[in-house]
Amino acid sequence: MKCYIFVGPPGCGKGTHSVPVVRDFNLCHLSTGELLREQIAQGTELGLKAKSLMDAGNFVPDEVVEGMIASQFDNPRNFDGFLLDGFPRTLGQARDLDAMLAARGSEVTGVIGLMIPEDLIRARIKGRAVIEGRADDANDEIITNRINTYHEKTEPIIDYYKSKGKYYEVDGDGGPGEEGKLEVYRRIRVQMEKMEG
Ligand code: ADP
Repeated sequence: MKCYIFVGPPGCGKGTHSVPVVRDFNLCHLSTGELLREQIAQGTELGLKAKSLMDAGNFVPDEVVEGMIASQFDNPRNFDGFLLDGFPRTLGQARDLDAMLAARGSEVTGVIGLMIPEDLIRARIKGRAVIEGRADDANDEIITNRINTYHEKTEPIIDYYKSKGKYYEVDGDGGPGEEGKLEVYRRIRVQMEKMEG
């Protein structure tokens, strides 16, 4: 079972580019943000607990997201592996993921870092707020909190994967419009094919 990871700041395009990646590499897309939003929409107990944390731009506890990921790993489907989007987000989660995969006879295949400058992060998140209506996208203070949390808690996982020789970086700014998206996807494919290699 292959395991690819997308890492990058909020708004870098992880969700957008997951769509063609899972299609072309026959992977199961696991977005912890989306799984959590489904729980909120269904009004589950887990969703109720997660909602206030997410709306304020704070992380939900590790055991919550790790439980969701483990149950997806144990739900066998016709895929060659998984694309994790938004997980791991902390060093603790990265170490726990290694243990979860080892217990299933597998390991991280490779990590794509999708990087964009901060002004573009803010512009994209604001554009998305109009379309998707997410509470955590609509407010400058919350966006700032998410960007700061990314630097403080998530960025350290890049060095973790670099030290294992598993990190591949992509410039997530391919220019405007659909052509820009296609350009970034081409860059991602080049890096993923190196991992396959
Ligand atoms: P974005 O990439 O725009 O930050 P996501 O959909 O990936 O959006 O995540 C939305 C929110 O869900 C996060 O701000 C956080 O509150 C919660 N979340 C998602 N993944 C995790 C995770 N791995 N650990 C903790 N919280 C998470």
